[in-house]
Amino acid sequence: MSLNKLRDMTNTPISVNQRAYHLPRAPTVIVCIDGCEQEYINQAVQAGSAPFFAKLAARGTVLSGDCVMPSFTNPNNLSIVTGAPPSVHGICGNYFFDPEQNAEVLMNDARYLRAPTVLAQLAAAGRKVAVVTAKDKLRSLLGHGLQGICFSAEKADEANLESNGIDRVLEKVGLQLPSVYSADLSEFVFAAGVMLLETVRPDLMYLSTTDYVQHKFAPGTEGANSFYAMMDRYLKRLDEGGAVIGITADHGMNAKTDALGKPSIAYLQDVLDATAGSGKARVLLPITDPYVVHHGALGSYATVYVNDPADIPLVSKYLQALPEVEQVLDRAEAAARFELPVDRIGDLVVLSHRLSVLGTSRTRHDLSGLTVPLRSHGGLSEQRIPLLFNRVLQDVPPGRLRNFDVLSLALNHVG
Ligand SMILES: [Zn+2]
Repeated sequence: MSLNKLRDMTNTPISVNQRAYHLPRAPTVIVCIDGCEQEYINQAVQAGSAPFFAKLAARGTVLSGDCVMPSFTNPNNLSIVTGAPPSVHGICGNYFFDPEQNAEVLMNDARYLRAPTVLAQLAAAGRKVAVVTAKDKLRSLLGHGLQGICFSAEKADEANLESNGIDRVLEKVGLQLPSVYSADLSEFVFAAGVMLLETVRPDLMYLSTTDYVQHKFAPGTEGANSFYAMMDRYLKRLDEGGAVIGITADHGMNAKTDALGKPSIAYLQDVLDATAGSGKARVLLPITDPYVVHHGALGSYATVYVNDPADIPLVSKYLQALPEVEQVLDRAEAAARFELPVDRIGDLVVLSHRLSVLGTSRTRHDLSGLTVPLRSHGGLSEQRIPLLFNRVLQDVPPGRLRNFDVLSLALNHVG
């Protein structure tokens, strides 16, 4: 008898990154709503735009948790699918300094991933697994080692059986290829999720949207409420299809402006060049990715490489003196407190206050794409995220919950 058959008969959980997961008994859909500050859902519910969300309090489970730091997309998506912090899976930004290449590079490549995903392990245990992401940048990380379906809305037209486990996606979903800067990109993810549930019926599905809307619209605005109304309609269909649904977010989102919408930005490289001296320290922004039009690569988290270790205390002092800066931690403190891979962060980690962001040099940020007041994330102020389920959970562990508990809660605590 095969190991997988034996596991099915005895209902033995699988173990991934030192955590146990029961195999799904019903189709289970985990949704990561990118940039979902909890207030978006609250306001959409208050406005009557989100009847499915509104019912979760009575018929499901409503919890809150914390995302991992930095409160950026890649580290958190990878935490959710590995059930572990960045110290375990290694992805600590969208962008980082790779000492092996001696270069600043995007962290999209699966070779930077240091841990297996629960998705891949469940597929290896004989379960049908599907992943749909909005942007293609996450696809290779989320799909690493996965024998199943994995494609992005952005490149849905290129999906094929060999690379993605599915073909003719546009035809099957019944929508046109969406623009990468649009609410439609996230709608495509949900429409694909409904199509997959109704056809392939995966045992586990992971749907990950993009925060284009949240970067543009504050909670309760028409743009935000209609986006949440769209998600609400698809979630209702997934629910009606018999799925166990777990909803969380990769991070929250806040305005980063003064009272009149002017962005509050500390340009750290300019500050350090003027104080510590040119060439003494290098500022890296892990929010950087190929799609920066809507936030200008400005977030509330930065890391700083200091050429001479003897200069670290002085550089830290200059940074701490800035009114926009909330905290400066050295490498060891940051790695311990935020569970970060110590070899992949700089000598200092800098966090800004809720209403401010951190830049490198003024000349390196193109703000021409910011057509509305800046909203962004990255700091401690964007750490609170929702953990919502369409079923009543049992024996929820006491204490701090994290977004990367969502798979364990959905697979192990649904009665
Ligand atoms: Zn995000």
